[in-house]
Amino acid sequence: MDQYRVFGNPIKQSRSPFIHQLFAKQTQQQLNYQSEYVEVEQFEETIKSFIKSGAKGANITVPFKERAMVLCDQLTERAQLAGAVNTLTFVEGKICGDNTDGEGLVKDLLNNNIPLKNSRILLLGAGGAAKGVLLPLLAQAPESIVIANRTVSKAEDLIKKFKNDKLSASEFDALGETKFSLIINATSASLTGNVPPITKECVANTYCYDMVYGQELTPFLLWAKEHGATKVIDGLGMLVGQAAESFRVWRNVLPEIAPVLKQLRTKGGS
Ligand code: NDP
Repeated sequence: MDQYRVFGNPIKQSRSPFIHQLFAKQTQQQLNYQSEYVEVEQFEETIKSFIKSGAKGANITVPFKERAMVLCDQLTERAQLAGAVNTLTFVEGKICGDNTDGEGLVKDLLNNNIPLKNSRILLLGAGGAAKGVLLPLLAQAPESIVIANRTVSKAEDLIKKFKNDKLSASEFDALGETKFSLIINATSASLTGNVPPITKECVANTYCYDMVYGQELTPFLLWAKEHGATKVIDGLGMLVGQAAESFRVWRNVLPEIAPVLKQLRTKGGS
């Protein structure tokens, strides 16, 4: 049976095996997908020995996405621009690297009926996740994307890298009461119980998305809801969306996201 695995550290929390098992069942594909904890210093040799065993592909999660990129013989454009890979495909001794996070986000936004064409988007954060979603977001033809980050120089570096006049960088303070159609929180602030320092006027009557997800609403989504956001959405759909896109890359069939997301929300997954 074709073997796939997700490698990370930590990995116990990963829902990817559960998601891919449901995708395989749904599309009647025969495959085995497991998770594996990797010691930080053993990442490269772990991947190499997985390839030697005849495996077909892998997902890569924190903290190995950049190191995985270095291992690749080929990269997709979206992986190159993201500067990180989350999907490896092993073909005839070569490693092909891709990044499906951005596609996962865009699919989830569209599934939630959030208009992206001609929209004014505020992207909070300029780390790996923000970088990975810029190209797929730009492909949806928004009017503009403002990237605001605590360390503003990182947002400015991103603008330089992408060379697209729809992009601009900002400090949080400089946003004031500017109105956006959609705010995407791509910071990890919610993981530490923090909310990025933007004004309540920014979130009122605006779609608000947080890449972080959990049993409860994230601190950012809770705060945005209290201040009149049109709709608040967490990143669980993005997680399932990026997994679906990895599955398509490997198996050439795109599984349905909605039933899997529903199972995760009701049963919690594993
Ligand atoms: P990085 O560590 O690369 O970047 C973290 C970003 O968050 C930086 O821009 C950092 O700003 C900012 N930040 C951290 N703490 C704060 C704070 N208290 N206030 C304001 N800004 C803050 O992480 P990633 O980009 O890889 O991931 C970001 C989040 O997205 C993570 O929480 C991750 O779990 C989530 N994610 C979800 C996915 C999904 O499928 N749902 C997929 C990928 C990521 P600075 O540059 O100033 O340090």
